[in-house]
Amino acid sequence: MTTAPQPLKERRPVLKLADIQRRYSDAAGGLTVLDDASLEIFPGEMVAMVAPSGAGKSTLLQIAGLLERPDGGEVYIAGRAASRLPDSDRTALRRLFIGFVYQFHHLLPEFSAMENVMLPQLIRGIGRHEAAARSMQLLAYMRVKDRATHRPSEMSGGEQQRVAIARAVANGPRLLLADEPTGNLDPQTAALVFDGLMRLVRASKLSCLIATHNHDLAARMDRAITLSGGKVVELRRQPSLVAEAAAGHVQPPPAAAEGGER
Ligand code: ADP
Repeated sequence: MTTAPQPLKERRPVLKLADIQRRYSDAAGGLTVLDDASLEIFPGEMVAMVAPSGAGKSTLLQIAGLLERPDGGEVYIAGRAASRLPDSDRTALRRLFIGFVYQFHHLLPEFSAMENVMLPQLIRGIGRHEAAARSMQLLAYMRVKDRATHRPSEMSGGEQQRVAIARAVANGPRLLLADEPTGNLDPQTAALVFDGLMRLVRASKLSCLIATHNHDLAARMDRAITLSGGKVVELRRQPSLVAEAAAGHVQPPPAAAEGGER
């Protein structure tokens, strides 16, 4: 039997930001945070975003996650243009494709770790049995299976964050967006939490964009970008550049300022 030739590799980005503009108008004269910021993230890619505070990382994540609308440009999620869709369609796209992790875990205090991971699945309509099995599997990937019945107050900061990561991927998103997910943890715990995140991402072929100040973690990802002058700048695999970007010392090289060169 012959099989039809397969395309070499599906290269459609999971996330594409095209010429994103975001301007806040409260300050005198206004503040342009994103100025033609462009970025593509392909299936399975882990991308670090390292830039100093105030550079626009959270703004970019909020726009990529369809929580905020840009003033200009377009956000494509798995090929669908999302910027001008009605709120209900944006919410549906977000629920289907995107998971979020924040610096603080935001777990529900009255529920156990396992219940916290089950809840988004139950809301989606998945049966209890299946949701419980998947939750245990995700907690195992994050090495917190033995804390499944514990409430957040009975867990360490690192354990809470591992559960929050498991919850973020409970409904099988294609894209994980994380805003300083280890920013609240000591370096050793941060590295352990990141190990779990990486295991989970690789096992589920997720794509992710992770804002972090931790350049050791950034250097372990597939690519690193920074924000400079409101634009996305590729840092490639250069740990020294990543360290400088975290401190805010990187200027955009002229040819790479659009984020499209790979
Ligand atoms: P980062 O995540 O890199 O620290 P942010 O995206 O949070 O940066 O913020 C980028 C800039 O935009 C900052 O100068 C911040 O003060 C400003 N900013 C963020 N949100 C608002 C807002 N809602 N109104 C006015 N200015 C804002």
